Amino acid sequence: MNIETLLRCDLDGKKKEGTYRKLQLITSAQERVISIDGQELINFCSNNYLGLANDPRLKEASIEALKKFGTGTAASRLICGSFGFHKKLEEGIAKFKHSQAALVFNCGYMANLALSALTDKDSIIFSDKFNHASIVDGLILSRAKFVRYNHSDMNQLEELLKEYNSAKKKLIVTDTVFSMDGDLADLRKIVSLASEYKSYVYIDEAHATGVFGPTGAGLAEELALSKQIDIQMGTLSKALGSFGAFIAGSQTLIEYLINTSRSFIYTTSLPAAVVGASIKAIEIVQKETNLKEKLWKNIKFIKQGLLDLGLDCSNSNSAIIPIITHENALTMEFSKRLFKKGLFVQGIRPPTVPKGQARLRIAASAIHTQEDLDKLLEAIKLTARELGFIQ
Ligand code: PMP
Repeated sequence: MNIETLLRCDLDGKKKEGTYRKLQLITSAQERVISIDGQELINFCSNNYLGLANDPRLKEASIEALKKFGTGTAASRLICGSFGFHKKLEEGIAKFKHSQAALVFNCGYMANLALSALTDKDSIIFSDKFNHASIVDGLILSRAKFVRYNHSDMNQLEELLKEYNSAKKKLIVTDTVFSMDGDLADLRKIVSLASEYKSYVYIDEAHATGVFGPTGAGLAEELALSKQIDIQMGTLSKALGSFGAFIAGSQTLIEYLINTSRSFIYTTSLPAAVVGASIKAIEIVQKETNLKEKLWKNIKFIKQGLLDLGLDCSNSNSAIIPIITHENALTMEFSKRLFKKGLFVQGIRPPTVPKGQARLRIAASAIHTQEDLDKLLEAIKLTARELGFIQ
């Protein structure tokens, strides 16, 4: 069989099981309303939680940095690609995250690959089964042994910590907001278990940064746990409306990552236009807490509306609000019908979620208007009735 036939065979298999994916091209900015195939849609599936992705102030900061420093950085940080703007961003992130230092990575996926630098063959990593795919890939790349505990099962985590108590280096890794369920890790319990069993803690705050905490720093800040968490990872691409990611922690941790993390060392550094926007975003998020308040008002309204309809929103407690629809084909049909009604709500299927757990993933944003929310709930009610989810 030639490669074409082999690949086609696999793709046909995906079509049969309802997991085939294709790209949908957006022809507008990432905004409240976006355009796809000439149709205008209210956007309920982006991670643009605070509406900063097309903010004029971020664009201005980006253009200014671009004019001054050019389009490319032309080298990795350790060759000749480390600029003053990287340092400025890292200082801003360290303050924001209440940590001694921070290191910027080119994206969240690459930041999570640094898990492989932080562990070795004598280490054991405990990872929640619903952690993001980039964490899983970081584990696979590491030489450590890793065990995946059932989602948020703190009893099982404790059992595993006991079982591997003698390991030289132990690391618990968790998303703080789970990206497909929108529920929260039991961070207090994780920190307390880590202290009892002498484990380190690594958190991924991709969907919590800008959404939780008095200054928007994340769930660790909200629970006043920042100082007890060894490694705080976060992204600049979601609520912060820019691109890239970071790890924040002690000075020693950052020095160590600069010397060992292959996903930091062997890649060209982020360009000025991106970093300029990120610096501005961090300033805005800390100052303009009204954005977060507006987001939470919208989250609560959507979630209550869906629960009142009798839909299953899992244990969502963040800007990510799923409607569990189980079946792949039905989920995509639901999404298609909402699309026809002018709403963009993406369907999520395995392998992103477990088999039988397909869902619509609604993402709330501070820029949604009350009219948008009313339209969303009305369209969901009608479609859920058409498809027999509710009476
Ligand atoms: N962690 C989580 C929890 C995510 O949801 C994502 C991506 N959506 C990432 C990491 C990867 O971040 P990035 O998109 O910056 O690569």
